[in-house]
Amino acid sequence: MLKDEDRIFTNLYGMHDRTLVGARKRGHWDGTGDLIRKGREWIVEEVKSSGLRGRGGAGFPTGLKWSFMPKESDGRPHYLVVNADESEPGTCKDREIMRHDPHTLIEGCLIAGFGMGANTGYIYIRGEYIREREALQAAIDEAYDAGLLGKNAAGSGWDFDLYLHHGAGAYICGEETALLESLEGKKGMPRMKPPFPAGAGLYGCPTTVNNVESIAVVPTILRRGGEWFAGFGRPNNTGTKIFAVSGHVNRPCVVEEAMSISFEELIDRHCGGIRGGWDNLKAVIPGGSSVPMLPAATMRDGAIMDFDWLRENRSGLGTAAVIVMDQSTDVIKAIWRLAKFYKHESCGQCTPCREGSGWMMRVMERLVRGDADPAEIDMLLDVTKQVEGHTICALGDAAAWPIQGLIRHFRHEIEDRIAHKRNKRAAPVAAE
Ligand code: SF4
Repeated sequence: MLKDEDRIFTNLYGMHDRTLVGARKRGHWDGTGDLIRKGREWIVEEVKSSGLRGRGGAGFPTGLKWSFMPKESDGRPHYLVVNADESEPGTCKDREIMRHDPHTLIEGCLIAGFGMGANTGYIYIRGEYIREREALQAAIDEAYDAGLLGKNAAGSGWDFDLYLHHGAGAYICGEETALLESLEGKKGMPRMKPPFPAGAGLYGCPTTVNNVESIAVVPTILRRGGEWFAGFGRPNNTGTKIFAVSGHVNRPCVVEEAMSISFEELIDRHCGGIRGGWDNLKAVIPGGSSVPMLPAATMRDGAIMDFDWLRENRSGLGTAAVIVMDQSTDVIKAIWRLAKFYKHESCGQCTPCREGSGWMMRVMERLVRGDADPAEIDMLLDVTKQVEGHTICALGDAAAWPIQGLIRHFRHEIEDRIAHKRNKRAAPVAAE
C-alpha cells in the first residue's frame, strides 16, 4: 500500500487549500528554478529513469517521448500541449488534479516545457469541465502574479507562457492530433501519422502532447529522484497511479496508489469491497470504457493493475478507470451503451469507423433484445476485426474492443438471450 508520505497528490479530495500558498506548504514549487538549471538533458534522463509511462491511456514512455523533440530549434517554436480533455467514460482522475491540486500541473508544465525546449504551453480542457477550468485559470493567474510563469519563470532563466483552452465537449478531441486541429480552430478531426507531432504538430511546429497526470507527477519525480518513482510497481510498470473506481463497489473513489497493486487490494482497501460481496462480482472494465472487459474469475485470480498484466490478459490499464459490474448487470446492454457512445463520437472521417461503429451498435441493439440469429455473433466479431487497426485513429479500436471482450467472455449470455427470445421464455431487457 502506498504510504501517505509517498503520495504526489496531497489534495486530491480538496480538503486543503488549493491556492499557491497551500500548494507551497505541501511542497510544490519548491526549488523549481534549481531543477530547471540542472539542464534539459538531466530532466529528460531523470524522467526516463523513473520509468514513467503516459497516464492518458497508451502508456508510452514519457521521457522517450520528450526526447523525440528536436534538440535545437530550426527557427520554429516548440510547443507543450497538455491533454486535459478527459472524456473516456468512467475516467475522472485528471479533474481532481485540476480542481484540487492545480499547481502540480502548472509546475509540471513549466518543467516539461523547458525539458522539450518549449516557451509556450497549452492546456486543452474538456468542454464540460467548467469548475475545473475556473480553478485551473485562477491557479495560472496566481502563478503569473508570483513570477512562476512568464519571463524568467520561477527565476529559472527560462521564459514560459501557459494558456488554458476550453474545448467544446467532443470526445474525439482527446485524440492528440484532433486536439491539435481543434486548438488551431479547426474541426477536431484526427490527422494521418506520420508526420508525428514531435516533427510537425501545433501550427506545423514540434509539439509534444501529454496527459495531465503524466505532467503533474514530474516535479515530484525530479525532487525525489527517478529512482524513488521507479521503486513502486513492477519493472516496466513503475510509479504511483491514480485509479478511478466506479460502479458496483461499496465506496466508489479516486485514489492514488502504487502501480501493480492487486485488484482485490485496490477494491477492499479503498472501495469497501464489492457490493454484495466478492461472489457477487460479474465483470470489470479495468481501464476506461475502450478496453475489453474481464470476467470475475480472471479479476479474482490475482489480477495486477498495471499495463503489462492487463495486456497479457487481453485487456488494458488505459486510464485506470475501473468500472466494476456485479451480477445484477446486463453486460450485453452495458456494452451496447458503449457502442452507442462510440458511434455518436466517431468523427466520420474513415469508412470502417463511420460505418462500422453504427453497424456494430445496431447489431448490439438487437442482441440486447435477443432478436438475432446465433450466427450473427460471429458476424459481429468479424466486423470488429475489420474495424480494429484499419482506421486513422484509435477510436475505431475503442469501438471494437468492448464488443470483442463481451463476446470472448459472455458469449453464453448472448446465446441464452437469443434462445430465450426464440422460446418466448423470458422478457429480455430492451435497449432504450
Ligand atoms: Fe474519425 Fe473514427 Fe477515423 Fe478516428 S477512427 S479518424 S474517429 S472516423
